[in-house]
Amino acid sequence: MSLLEKLDRAAAARKAQLPGGIGAFGIPIEAIYSATEARIGGRKILLLGTNNYLGLSFSTECREAAHAAIDAEGTGTTGSRMANGNYSGHRALEAEFADFYHCRSSIVFTTGYQANLGTISALLGKGDVALIDGDSHASIYDGCILSGADVIRFRHNDRDDLEKRLRRLGERSKNTLIIVEGIYSMLGDQAPLADIVNLKKQYGSLLLLDEAHSLGVLGETGQGLVEKTGLNQDVDFITGTFSKSLCGIGGYCVSNHEQLDQMRYVSHPYIFTASPSPATIAATRAALKILSAGTELRKRLWQNAEQLYSALKNIGYQVGPQPGPIVAIILDSPEQALAMWNGLMAANIYVNLILPPAAPEGKSLVRCSINAAHTPEQINYVSQVLSELYAKLH
Ligand code: PMP
Repeated sequence: MSLLEKLDRAAAARKAQLPGGIGAFGIPIEAIYSATEARIGGRKILLLGTNNYLGLSFSTECREAAHAAIDAEGTGTTGSRMANGNYSGHRALEAEFADFYHCRSSIVFTTGYQANLGTISALLGKGDVALIDGDSHASIYDGCILSGADVIRFRHNDRDDLEKRLRRLGERSKNTLIIVEGIYSMLGDQAPLADIVNLKKQYGSLLLLDEAHSLGVLGETGQGLVEKTGLNQDVDFITGTFSKSLCGIGGYCVSNHEQLDQMRYVSHPYIFTASPSPATIAATRAALKILSAGTELRKRLWQNAEQLYSALKNIGYQVGPQPGPIVAIILDSPEQALAMWNGLMAANIYVNLILPPAAPEGKSLVRCSINAAHTPEQINYVSQVLSELYAKLH
């Protein structure tokens, strides 16, 4: 089969999976009004499918910081951190991330995807082992592939399965990086971090925690699952992204290991790409300040999340195992999920449609995500529409 025929075949498989459902992916946003509203298809739509957990995308402080940085430093750095792209803002943000986590140091990457790719591929090489949760994000899988290490998956959030695999590794467990996420992006559940920390200590492995969806969401100052569980000093590497609670684009890795700094000299996803733009860095620095002082925002976010999660459970929907800003409705088939997605769009509500293989265990998901800017009235409206759809589609 030719290279282009392979793409034709993939396109045909995609269309067969969901005839008429292609429009759900990459939907054009015509105008964006706020953290909760946009114009799509000529209509005002309630956004319930972003990762804007603290609702900061239009924050005055972040916008002003971005404008000032463009005026002072221009629109882009045009180069890598290793060459001409290492401005004082990048270094200041790294110091601020290290302070925020009370860790020795941090590295800023150009995206969250690259933070995982760059960290994993710098730590692991041929002959080493990546022991990863089966529901890991694609950036974790891709980082493992780039590293050349052997990749072993353990059953999602299953500490016994993790232990079984560590035991089988024997001496190799000492060359193993365990990788888990603070909040999983599809079902919104949290890793059993205390159990995982105990195992990594017992077997002499290292632990990387991706706080992409938990930064700003969990813990008194918003560090994530490390703070909620009090395990800040027990996780070897924490990665995360600017693209969710911080409303920018970029990523970071923080650690107490002095070797972190050496990654700058070996990590291709750090070296061979341009550094984040001055506006991105400035807005992220402003957002990190708001995030760490954002107890009130987190309280609102959790009130909203719990309101929707319990409403959907009461209606009878199968939802993820625990409440949080990601509330996933779990459905058996792509057709059911598409019917629900279409029903929500008809009621002017945008959510994420997630089909296999992106959804776990062959299921399909209607993934709702809540933020601190949603009002109780908006959540009531969503619950009412979902209640009507439940009656219609079941
Ligand atoms: N890790 C996880 C768990 C994610 O869900 C994502 C993005 N969805 C990333 C990393 C990558 O972050 P970014 O989109 O900012 O590159």
